[in-house]
This record gives sequence, structure tokens and C-alpha cells, in this order.
Amino acid sequence: MDLLDAFERVSTKCRVVSPIPFCMTFAADKPTGLFVSAGIHGDEQTNIAAMLDFVSSHREQLEAAPYSSSFAIGNPETVRENRRYKVVDMNRSFGVEGLAQDVLRAKELVYAARKFPYILDLHQTIEPTLRPFGIFPQTPTTEEFFSHLGSITDLIVSTSMSGDASKPVCFDEYMLHTFSACAITVETGSIKGEQQSVVACACEAMKNALTYAKVLDGTVSAVPFRRWHQVQFVHNHADTKIVSGLQNFTQVSEGEEIAYRESEKIRSEHKGIVLFPKYVPTTDRYLARIAIQ
Ligand SMILES: [Zn+2]
Repeated sequence: MDLLDAFERVSTKCRVVSPIPFCMTFAADKPTGLFVSAGIHGDEQTNIAAMLDFVSSHREQLEAAPYSSSFAIGNPETVRENRRYKVVDMNRSFGVEGLAQDVLRAKELVYAARKFPYILDLHQTIEPTLRPFGIFPQTPTTEEFFSHLGSITDLIVSTSMSGDASKPVCFDEYMLHTFSACAITVETGSIKGEQQSVVACACEAMKNALTYAKVLDGTVSAVPFRRWHQVQFVHNHADTKIVSGLQNFTQVSEGEEIAYRESEKIRSEHKGIVLFPKYVPTTDRYLARIAIQ
């Protein structure tokens, strides 16, 4: 199924306005509530399908809501081609100057989202993950928002992706920094993982976030979550390989082999979990990380 066609089909059935292409805003004349984006990385498509399912089944409530809500496909050009990005990673392109399609779409998305107090950005990991998780700039308000999303109960403590907190480049950190939005990113599962659980996770997160932002009626309660601090980084040298079978959140003991290069074994220095293991060749600085609570 073509997700862009499906988006257009759903939006023509709803009373919405479109501030930018592939973005539908419900109750646009009301105060702003929640902005949802999916597919900033064009190969993370299950969240888009989940978003369209969700919108279709909540259309009347969203149209009649006391606060507006907006649902956007992050980077439609790349969704069409099922590729991660066109020229540069869009989620490293917020607040960046340039004429690359990904940079221009980042500006559009900011324009559409700029007045919303709450932003939920849905992603999926490339490598397998045992659990969904949140990763976003942490403030008391973003953590409070995150704690109401339901069954996503792991938070990876992150640092600014630009390496400079005053130059945010991810959607969530840019919107927080520039517009004081309560903006968070959740990873609902992996691209190659079980699709149904990704859909269920994304739909629960959207429903709870919309309720928390008072777009939908009802109450949601806070759920305690685990904070994971990254404490060991395995460098991605050309001759270094990760041990097979490790997934995001795989538990490791202190001294356990996690990677190797020629005769050298690289071991976990902590009892903790593996994060972001890389099996597909990449230019990323790290092959994996170890995190502890
Ligand atoms: Zn992503």
C-alpha cells in the first residue's frame, strides 16, 4: 500500500486543514494541543500506518476536540522511496541552513508544529530492539509527559545530537529549544521487527499523549520508568565486529564479550544493557554502547 496515497485518502475524509503538504490539522480553530509526526526517517513506515489507522478510528473525536491536533508525515519524499533520507539525515537538519530536500522539509515541519505545546515524534530503530523506549532532551516537563505514554517504560538518557546544546539539530530538541515545546521522541520498535507490536505501541502512545494534552477526553496516569545512562562506548573501527545476537536492551554482565577486533576481545565494563548495536555497516562513531540504570 502506498502510504502517501493512504494519507491523502484519510485526510480528504476528515475535516482538516493542511498547513504544509502531508500534514492534517484537526480543530484548527481551537487552541493548539498535540503535534504528531511519523516518518522523519522515510524507512520507518509502520508508525505512519499506525498514525493513519489511529486518525481514521478517532476522526470524530479529533474533529470535535477542544484543542487542535496535527498529524504529519515527516519526510514524504523519502517515504515514497522507502529510504532513510534523501541527501542528509532530516533528524540532524533542524535549525540547519541548506537547500537539500531534507533540510527544506525540516523547515516546513517546524512551521507546521511551531505553535503546539506538545510534540510526539514517532521513530523505529534500524537494528532489533527488545523494547520500545523514549529518547529526548530531558526536562521536568518532557519527563512528565513521557511518563504518561503507557507501556513505554524505558528512557535512554541522551545528550544533544549536535554535540552543542545551543545548536539543536533533532526535531524534539529544536522545538524545545526554540519554541519551549514539550517535545519528545519515542522509538516504538524496530523496522524489521514485529509490525503489530509497533502499531499497538504507537497507537497507545498517541492516544495517551492526546489525552494528556487534553485533546481527547479522559485521564491518563503516570507510569514509573527506568532511566538508562550510557556509560561505555564501543568505537566503530573498520576491523571491529559486534558479537552476534545482541539487541537493544540485551542484558550483559560485567566482563561479557560484546565485540572483537583481530585477537582483542572487547568486554562490557558493567552489568547493564547493550544499546544501539550496529550490524549493518555504518559511519557512526560507535558500534554499540553499554548503559546502566
Ligand atoms: Zn528514526
